[in-house]
Amino acid sequence: MANQGLNFYLLFSPVNSAIYAKSGEMLVPIHEEMTRTALGSRVSPRALEVIIAANRKQDALHGQLGHDEYHFDNNAIDAGHRYITEQRGLVLAALLAPGVLSAWIAFGRLTHTAQDFYAHTNYVSMWLDQHPGTPPTPPEIDPVQKSLIESPGIRSGKIYLPLDALYFVPFLRKIALAFLPNDSHGKMNLDSSKQGPHFAYARAAAIKRTEYEFDILEKILTPEMFTKFTDLQPEN
Ligand SMILES: [Zn+2]
Repeated sequence: MANQGLNFYLLFSPVNSAIYAKSGEMLVPIHEEMTRTALGSRVSPRALEVIIAANRKQDALHGQLGHDEYHFDNNAIDAGHRYITEQRGLVLAALLAPGVLSAWIAFGRLTHTAQDFYAHTNYVSMWLDQHPGTPPTPPEIDPVQKSLIESPGIRSGKIYLPLDALYFVPFLRKIALAFLPNDSHGKMNLDSSKQGPHFAYARAAAIKRTEYEFDILEKILTPEMFTKFTDLQPEN
């Protein structure tokens, strides 16, 4: 019982809930909405639900601690890209075996990381910096501009605990922001519309990137494997 009490405390103590809530911003509602927008007409409803559940699960507490590569946090840029490639490989491997569930789950994990790239790195600012004067509209953003993705200037927000955890407690946010350095997750993230006009670019880029990742699958899979993955009847 004592143990249970402790677990309860650990799960619901303010700092832990704050950490849990971290991606909760871009996380739960926004990741889901972006994934639905990108894939809603491309995969069957049951495939979509599994993909979304796996995407959202990356932001659960166990996916937050020690997994910077899931979210491109703490400058885990190469590790984030590697994670995406790895999950793409798992989609392929899963489709070579009977069943399709693990292919959808791997793709769900992939989409989470791909989406976080735009919310947690300076990609959007770097892209906008190329267009001084009147900026292009969010739907015009190129989510895979090679020179930016491979730029040595690309970086992501660092998690400074406990300040970055306090940032997620609404009434402590102001205090946290006063002390957080400019390269912190709290200062850099584009997790929600509260972060200002750059959020719309992060969202547009994340949706386009999700579609792009789906298109890669169509290219690398055989037509039979691709049909199995989409779980839809081919059109003709
Ligand atoms: Zn995340």
